[in-house]
Amino acid sequence: MQISERFEYDVAIMGAGLAGMSAAVKMAEDHPDLKVAVLTKVHPVRSHSGAAQGGINAAVARDDKWEDHYYDTLKGGWFLGDQDAVRVLTEQAPNAIYELDRWGTSFSRSADGNYAQRPFGGQRRNRTCYVQDITGHALLTTLFEQVTKRGVDVFWEWFVFSIVSDGKDFYGFLAFDLKTGKIGFFSAKAGLVATGGAGRVFGQSSNALINTGDGMALAWRAGVPLKDMEFFQTHPTGIPNGILITEGARGEGGYLVNKHGERFMEKYAPQFMELAPRDLVARSIHTEIVEGRGFDDGCVRLDLRHLGKEKLTQRLPQIREIAMYFAGVDPIDDPIPVRPTVHYTMGGVDVNTDCATPVRGLFAAGEAACVSVHGANRLGGNSLLETVVFGIRAAAMIPKSLGEKKEAPASLIEAEMANFNALFDGEATESVPALRTEMEKTMVAGLGIKRDAAGMKKGLTDIEAVRARFSGVRVANRNLTFNMEAFRAIELGCMLDIAYACAFASVAREESRGSHYHLDFPKMDNARFLKHSLVTREDGNKLHLDHLDVTIVDTKPLDQITY
Ligand SMILES: Cc1cc2nc3c(=O)[nH]c(=O)nc-3n(C[C@H](O)[C@H](O)[C@H](O)COP(=O)(O)OP(=O)(O)OC[C@H]3O[C@@H](n4cnc5c(N)ncnc54)[C@H](O)[C@@H]3O)c2cc1C
Repeated sequence: MQISERFEYDVAIMGAGLAGMSAAVKMAEDHPDLKVAVLTKVHPVRSHSGAAQGGINAAVARDDKWEDHYYDTLKGGWFLGDQDAVRVLTEQAPNAIYELDRWGTSFSRSADGNYAQRPFGGQRRNRTCYVQDITGHALLTTLFEQVTKRGVDVFWEWFVFSIVSDGKDFYGFLAFDLKTGKIGFFSAKAGLVATGGAGRVFGQSSNALINTGDGMALAWRAGVPLKDMEFFQTHPTGIPNGILITEGARGEGGYLVNKHGERFMEKYAPQFMELAPRDLVARSIHTEIVEGRGFDDGCVRLDLRHLGKEKLTQRLPQIREIAMYFAGVDPIDDPIPVRPTVHYTMGGVDVNTDCATPVRGLFAAGEAACVSVHGANRLGGNSLLETVVFGIRAAAMIPKSLGEKKEAPASLIEAEMANFNALFDGEATESVPALRTEMEKTMVAGLGIKRDAAGMKKGLTDIEAVRARFSGVRVANRNLTFNMEAFRAIELGCMLDIAYACAFASVAREESRGSHYHLDFPKMDNARFLKHSLVTREDGNKLHLDHLDVTIVDTKPLDQITY
């Protein structure tokens, strides 16, 4: 297969979720002279940001201040967040809300006309702005309208399979159009990776099937380290098939009970109860279940009945529908069965606070990036915020960085095309679904919500073996038009890279911090591990681990975290 078209842009954005589209809209507004393209493997409004229910944080209330949001975020992240990055996030948060409002978001309002705000875990104020329980959907459609209005070129159902770089400079993206099978090279002075999270490496998860970490893996192959990959967040409340019941349900007053009818959070977080940070609530539910206090279906219950029909139908209509259609209970009459579900990738593409990677011209933002605002555990409502704040920031920083366009060396493109073509060459000896199931099981068994040294080491060895077997994967259908076989095979290759980096970084972290709960080292250890992990690839398959100090500006990290 060969490249059939060459596109020339100033900036090419990989991903049309909230991060990619905020960057595109802001760049189109402030730099209308720049030629910007957005590529996305699904239609923009099917990006996973649309699934976000609960809301977006910002200290916009009169009695709130960004400094409090800053501290809550640092503490919620077990002080692994870089303080300069967290400052950008929280200080710029009100501005992000005003921009979204100006672009047309219909935020829910309180009676006095101000933004309505609900409480979310680990925060001392009602700080989460929302649009009912469809916040992500409302924001995504707003931004898509803006992208369309401003005439940004959007290439939807184009699958990026390579970031072309020599490890020093970025040259462009290689992608194929699912609708026509055409292969394009998108040459650009700068590229932004905004491809979202990789929660699907664990199989059952709140994440969409498309959250396979493609951008993280492709950036890694292009020479950028992956940062803090040991930290995958488990959300406390998924229904049995993994679909999420937003933290907003607890924010509205929902509480958790075990099979004895006890509000067990009293034991684990007496002050914050159900509104403790996610890692703590998820581990508490897990403990109740494994110690035999769960129900026969392996869940505890989230009780919303006391909120009453009116509040439930006004504030949490989507949650009611999800519970009715996917868990078979109407929360007006019955509590919802819930258990922890893998949810968010705190680690990702290594970037600085300007969204720049170490490869010149390559940037990243949103869940795919690790600018390090969430540390070891993300507070609910801070991720939508990150996408918009750093999408806007990327739109300010990228234009400043643009120099002359560099021609991509032909040998580089040929090498990337040869890798791609190899997938279609010869007979398969391995099956994509079988390897994917194996990967998911391995990750859950060895790198789940509570980990130990032996389990993680076995997980690492097993993932290494599955990853080696990927070389036997071939795509039988040689026509690229709507070739979902190729789509799934490339995604699996990316997920195996992410899983491998996660296992590799996890084994080395001999402490418990946030979502990395190590049974052999149950305490946080600032003396040895107040550090980021950076995993790089050497000669393709060997991995290398570095540690990098966390940026401390003005706040001394606590030695233990209690709520
Ligand atoms: C169920 C659920 C509920 C949530 N609720 C909240 C909430 O209430 N508040 C909050 O703050 N956070 C919430 N989050 C987290 C938040 O929604 C996400 O972190 C955020 O939306 C990620 O946005 P993004 O722009 O980085 O990526 P995404 O929205 O995931 O977009 C990724 C984009 O990249 C594209 N892409 C990926 N791979 C390729 C490829 N190979 N080629 C081309 N394009 C590609 C996709 O097509 C897509 O357009 C929730 C998450 C989930 C799963």
